[in-house]
Amino acid sequence: MRQNGNSRILVLGGDGFCGWPTALYLSRKGYAVTIVDNFSRRRIDEELGVESLTPIESMGQRLQCWWEMTGLTIDLLKLDLACDFEPLVELIAETRPAAIVHFAEQRAAPYSMKSSRHKRYTVSNNINATNNILAAVVDAGVDSHIVHLGTMGVYGYGSAGMKIPEGYLDVEIPLDNGQRISQQILYPSNPGSIYHLTKSQDQLLFAYYNKNDGMRITDLHQGIVWGTQTVETSLDERLINRFDYDGDYGTVLNRFLMQAATGHELTVHGTGGQTRAFIHISDTVRCIHLAISSPPDPGERVRIMNQMTETYRVRDLARMIADASGAPVAFVDNPRNEAAENELFVENARLCKLGLKPTYLAQGLMEEISEVAEKYAHRCNPELIPCRSYWRTGNAPQEGADT
Ligand code: NAD
Repeated sequence: MRQNGNSRILVLGGDGFCGWPTALYLSRKGYAVTIVDNFSRRRIDEELGVESLTPIESMGQRLQCWWEMTGLTIDLLKLDLACDFEPLVELIAETRPAAIVHFAEQRAAPYSMKSSRHKRYTVSNNINATNNILAAVVDAGVDSHIVHLGTMGVYGYGSAGMKIPEGYLDVEIPLDNGQRISQQILYPSNPGSIYHLTKSQDQLLFAYYNKNDGMRITDLHQGIVWGTQTVETSLDERLINRFDYDGDYGTVLNRFLMQAATGHELTVHGTGGQTRAFIHISDTVRCIHLAISSPPDPGERVRIMNQMTETYRVRDLARMIADASGAPVAFVDNPRNEAAENELFVENARLCKLGLKPTYLAQGLMEEISEVAEKYAHRCNPELIPCRSYWRTGNAPQEGADT
C-alpha cells in the first residue's frame, strides 16, 4: 500500500493501549504516521511491579514487525510532551501534520490518587502536555486538527435521568431587566479524581485556544475501552496490544475476565447497580479515523463527541461473564464512596451519524475470554488484581480504572 505523504498524522502516546492500534489502523489506511511517546507507561509498570497480561514487545520490535507484515513504515520520536517543547515545535513545523491525535496522558484514576506525588505528577504531566501541544501548533504556524481523547468521566456519574449531551448544555440565564437569554455552555464538569480533574481542565484549554487562535479541535469523550485486539494487532503476536488487569490500570471488566480465567469468583461491589459506558478498542480506532476524516470547519467551536457505544450495570456485566465462563458471582461490600445505583443516559448520535457500526460486548466477549484472558492466564498474578489506592486518607480503596 502506498503511503500518502500529504497526510501526515502524529499519534502522541502511540505506545499505549489506544494509541498503538490507532497508529497501525491509520498506517494501513494510507496515512504517514509518526508515533511520539516517552514510554512513561512502561516505566509505571515497573514502578507498580506489574506487566501487561499480554506479552508486549519493545517499540523497535513492534515497528520492525509492522514493516515485515505490511511493508509499511511508522516513524518514531521519543519526546516528553510535558517538557520537550522546542523539539515538538520543530516536529510539527517540519511535518505539518493534517491531524495530531493526543493520547499522551496519565490515564488511571486510582494511580492519580495514590499519593501527593502521583497527584502532582498527573496534573503536571497531563496539563503541561496538552498546553504544550496547543502552544506548539500555534508557534509552528500550522492548521493541524487536534483530536484529543477525553473521558465520559468529566461529566461525573449519573445524570439525574437526563440524557448527557455531547459536551454542551443549553441554559437560560435570567437578566436584571427581567428578560432571559439562551446560551450554550460546556456541560459542568464533575471530576471524581485528580485524573478526571486534568481532563476537565483540558476542556478549558481547548475552548481557549479554539477561541483565541482559531484552532480546530475535536474532543472525544470516551467511555471505558474494552477488548484487546484489532484486525491489525492480530496480524502477528509481536504486534499484540496491552491488557491491563492490575488494580490501578485494569478496568472492572478486565478484573472480572481475569477472575473468571484464574478460577476466582467475580466480586461485585455492593449491589452492582453502578452504570458505566463502554466501547470496544476496534471502535475507538474507527472513531478516531472518522473524526480525522471529518475535521471541524475553520471558525467552528471545539467539537465534542461522546465516544461510547453501550452502557452496562456492573452486576449485568458480571452476569454476562459468569454465563460465558461458568465462574460464580459474589456480592461483597462496596469499598467505593459512590451511589449504590445510578442511571446513565448518553447522547452518542454524532459518531453514529458519521458511520460508526459498533461492536457490542455480547458479540466480542467470548473471543476476549478465550483469545486473551484464558490464553495468557499463566502470566496473571492474582495478587495484583485488587486496588491499593485510597481516594482519601482513612477512606476505602477504589477499584478499577474508570477512565
Ligand atoms: P495508556 O497509558 O496505555 O497510553 C498513554 C500513552 O501516552 C503511553 O504510551 C505513555 O507512555 C504516553 N505518555 C504519557 N505521558 C506522556 C508524555 N508526557 N509524553 C509522551 N508520551 C506520554 O493509556 P490509554 O488507555 O491508551 O489511553 C489513551 C488516552 O485515552 C488517555 O488520554 C486516556 O485518558 C483516554 N481514555 C482512555 C480510556 C480507556 O479505557 N483506556 C477511556 C477513556 C479515555
